Amino acid sequence: MSQPLLATPIEYLKGVGPKKGELFKSELRIYTYGQLLHFFPFRYIDRSQLNKIKDIHSDEKAVQLKVVVTNISEVGAGRAKRLSVIVQDSTGMLELIFFKGIKWLKPKFKIGREYLVYGKPTKYRSQYNIAHPEFEEITNDNIKLTGLQPVYHSTEKATKGGLNSKGVERAIQQLLHQIPRHIPEVLSNEIISDLNLAEREVAFINIHQPKSYQELKKASFRLKFEEFFFLQLRLIKQKLAKEKAIKGHLFEAVGDLFNEFYSNHIPFELTNAQKRVVKEIRRDLGSNKHMNRLLQGDVGSGKTLVSLLVMLLAIDNGFQACLMAPTEILATQHFFTIQEFLKDLSVGVMLLTGSTKKSEREIIHAKLQSGELHILIGTHALLEDVVQFKNLGLTVIDEQHRFGVKQRAKLWKKNTIPPHVLVMTATPIPRTLAMTLYGDLDISIIDELPPGRKPIKTLHKYDKHRLSVFGFMEKQIAEGRQVYVVYPLIEESEALDFKDLMDGYESLSRRFPLPKYKISVVHGKMKAQDKEHEMQRFAKGETQILVATTVIEVGVNVPNASVMVIESANKFGLSQLHQLRGRVGRGANQSYCVLMTDYKLSQDAKTRIETMVKTNDGFEIAEVDLKLRGPGDILGTQQSGVLDLKIADLAKDNLILSSARNKAQELLSDDPEIANEENRMIRVHLSSLIKRKPNWGRIS
Ligand code: ADP
Ligand code: MG
Repeated sequence: MSQPLLATPIEYLKGVGPKKGELFKSELRIYTYGQLLHFFPFRYIDRSQLNKIKDIHSDEKAVQLKVVVTNISEVGAGRAKRLSVIVQDSTGMLELIFFKGIKWLKPKFKIGREYLVYGKPTKYRSQYNIAHPEFEEITNDNIKLTGLQPVYHSTEKATKGGLNSKGVERAIQQLLHQIPRHIPEVLSNEIISDLNLAEREVAFINIHQPKSYQELKKASFRLKFEEFFFLQLRLIKQKLAKEKAIKGHLFEAVGDLFNEFYSNHIPFELTNAQKRVVKEIRRDLGSNKHMNRLLQGDVGSGKTLVSLLVMLLAIDNGFQACLMAPTEILATQHFFTIQEFLKDLSVGVMLLTGSTKKSEREIIHAKLQSGELHILIGTHALLEDVVQFKNLGLTVIDEQHRFGVKQRAKLWKKNTIPPHVLVMTATPIPRTLAMTLYGDLDISIIDELPPGRKPIKTLHKYDKHRLSVFGFMEKQIAEGRQVYVVYPLIEESEALDFKDLMDGYESLSRRFPLPKYKISVVHGKMKAQDKEHEMQRFAKGETQILVATTVIEVGVNVPNASVMVIESANKFGLSQLHQLRGRVGRGANQSYCVLMTDYKLSQDAKTRIETMVKTNDGFEIAEVDLKLRGPGDILGTQQSGVLDLKIADLAKDNLILSSARNKAQELLSDDPEIANEENRMIRVHLSSLIKRKPNWGRIS
């Protein structure tokens, strides 16, 4: 059948041979016909769309020009040496510039000949030029000025060996010629007709050689859907298998402590979203299932309280619970918050961090083992082997993106039956996407803020206007409010950051002098105790301004603080900015976030700042973030299998992802073993994918 042809080594393809074959392998990682077929164009040139030189008016967009070469010269010397090619069309002149590969590029241009040029113009001294454009000589028959031409990635070395985009295209043309009836369908008729998908073979042909945008769209939808569908099938199957294999602690009891706390000790009404989430969690815990749940909720949505309720449920059922936070400050804050909530109940709560004294540690260890200690709150210190529980039933992890998979696994081992896991994150992303990225987790979402919060007003101010920002701070302080001023922390240059922070502190001290004003400073170089002390002074209202590096990013709760000034805001990522902004707006007063930058901003930085000014919605912000950075960065060390997508894009193809996930779920609930005859092709393809990548997707 098909496999043999697609498994054929690339050098056997007509027109390729051993030399190009070697380049395909070493430069483009293409070893077989099948891999070549999956080497998709990264864009298409619409030959019918030509720009005129005189119409170029911004350096935002790439342009396509049909030009004649009028001059070719090498200019500059040494490292500044470049190849300058002057071209013109009927409307004007333009310079093409090449800094690299001058020697082999130069002979490709001939004066008087016609070329098709594609690239991003840059303005220099009121003239536009294009650096390193794609270009191709137009001869009588090589370029039809109609239809869509695929463009493939290549490398300099491959290009020299004849495998530029055009060379790859030729090889693919040859392959497409040979494949009819060699590409089997892998989806069921039902799915294909339900979604009106292109047939697989047709999709492959049209993704490489579309005759129209319509064909291209249909082909790309089909291939993206297929990619997501099999990814989802694997994720869901894996999860089901795990659920079958691992049972969880049963939290059966109705819960005296839970009920007492719920009815008599919460100073406010839970939001509907909080109630719903508590219900979702209780359902897991009463079902013998092992809970592995991600709790998404915007900053300030009240996740901590939800987690406390769940911890009480654990205690009601004879278990212990722990809460792990990424920083000492945050852990400490959780400790105080929870201690305060529980002050009239007899629940043992203690704090364990890197700076806990040895004598205190020994007490904690002993009480954990005797069971006297019910809730342990802390940092990574909780993971140490000496920390042994009598009967740990629940682990809560705050701010999940800081903890890796390995650390989660370590917590699992703290009891013979692994404790339930509740992971809380304030970086919300769309549900389907979260399910894909954290395939083994169930998701709960708190999509509602407690009532009475006024949306934070966000402003962008240039450094030049700092004095007016100071004036604004002064007014707010006069009204009894407090202000954060945050500086970026860049790991590579701690010394420099420190200097920025200290310079800032000095100018603030001059503008807001003692004794009328008091300023706290918190930065990474301070001892934990000193940080804590300063933080507490600010929290108690003894100081009006807190100058800090991003150590205050997560969790800190000072409801009276109403202004967050972020210095060099362009240096922060979107989710960091959103986290920081979430430090204010926690009380009844109108709060403000001021983003300070200088005039020079990259396009991405501009988008980040504009997004922050425009919206307070964490989901919206997370989506923009995802588009700017791509899922890889957001995940860090998370499972790379999910990111190894050939055509689908987790950030942009969210709707296709949802539809693929729905279909996969439908299939597995109708036919859990994928054993039905009409799903045979799905089963076969899935097992061939799994065989190819056996280690794929071990998530926790
Ligand atoms: P998160 O951890 O989700 O950022 P927190 O749990 O720190 O949010 O809650 C923020 C603040 O809102 C806390 O002071 C908390 O006590 C308060 N809070 C939580 N739930 C409610 C509610 N339902 N109504 C009013 N205030 C609430
Ligand atoms: Mg929190």
